Amino acid sequence: MKAAVLESFKEPLTIKDVKEPELTPDGVIVKLKACGVCRSDWHGWMGEWTGFLAPLPHILGHEMSGEVEEVGKNIRNFKKGDRVIIPFTLGDGTCPYCRSGHSNVCDHQVMPGFTYDGGFAEYTHVPDADSNLMHLPAGRVEFVEASAMGCRFMTAFHGMVGQGKVAPGDWVAVFGAGGVGLSATQICTAIGANVIAVDISDEKLEFAKKVGAVEAINSKNEDPSEAIKEMTKGGAQVGVDALGIQETMLNSVNSLNKRGRHVQIGMTPFGEKGRLKIPVNDIVSKEIQFNGSFGMPVSEFPGMLQMVEKRNAWSRANSSQKRFRWRALTKPSTT
Ligand SMILES: [Zn+2]
Ligand SMILES: [Zn+2]
Repeated sequence: MKAAVLESFKEPLTIKDVKEPELTPDGVIVKLKACGVCRSDWHGWMGEWTGFLAPLPHILGHEMSGEVEEVGKNIRNFKKGDRVIIPFTLGDGTCPYCRSGHSNVCDHQVMPGFTYDGGFAEYTHVPDADSNLMHLPAGRVEFVEASAMGCRFMTAFHGMVGQGKVAPGDWVAVFGAGGVGLSATQICTAIGANVIAVDISDEKLEFAKKVGAVEAINSKNEDPSEAIKEMTKGGAQVGVDALGIQETMLNSVNSLNKRGRHVQIGMTPFGEKGRLKIPVNDIVSKEIQFNGSFGMPVSEFPGMLQMVEKRNAWSRANSSQKRFRWRALTKPSTT
């Protein structure tokens, strides 16, 4: 099969013929239809995550959707031709965390595109597929949309719904209007929360407003935590750091009201070695919750997919009604 192979860090990928992945009895081979690119690919490509990245040459790509090509002999839930999403965090289905619905922190976790060959290729293998693969809603979600759901969208959904416990009417401050931040903005808006987007790019902030943010702050121009406290009359209920640097993490915590919830999704760059300073006294005295959030457990997928499917259907119906009304109003009168 053809694949884009990482042969040395920080160098262009090489398109070449490679061996197809091998099928295991509990696995599935997926013929890929779409694969996204995100900042995690960049971290891998830079050679920052050698702690768990498979040795080179390696095939990156972890935001995947496609069709089932071949199933192992023990597979019960999938057959050739099924449309599927592959989450980027795969559990073994048997450890205490998987069995209690937290496959994203499995004791024997594997990650396609990182711990083994991923999606910048024609085919990939999904181990323990009965408990890891997800069916796409029939005909309602396209492959390109679905591929992003296996990484940035599911990560934002788990961060906001599972860990941040965002509720209708909450103020949610989203730091970083990239893939995860924009997904978090859409999800929180759908839940009925008020999103304040924070970034250093006006263009990204404009886009955040298009997908639901009610306020936008360019942190190059003003102190975002002070602006947020003023806008919300005290502070946000939830803050999310979608980037993972000292400044955005601190701004998120500082923008919270008492008993607010901070959600840390962004991981630190190599230089920080996973260490940032946190304002402990404020966290204690304001009873702030500091939550880590990693990927999404498979158990939360059905809720997320139903939300996407039904909202897609609703907006299709709604926009056709609008077009119909507009045509009806502008049609020249014949009487
Ligand atoms: Zn990703
Ligand atoms: Zn497990």
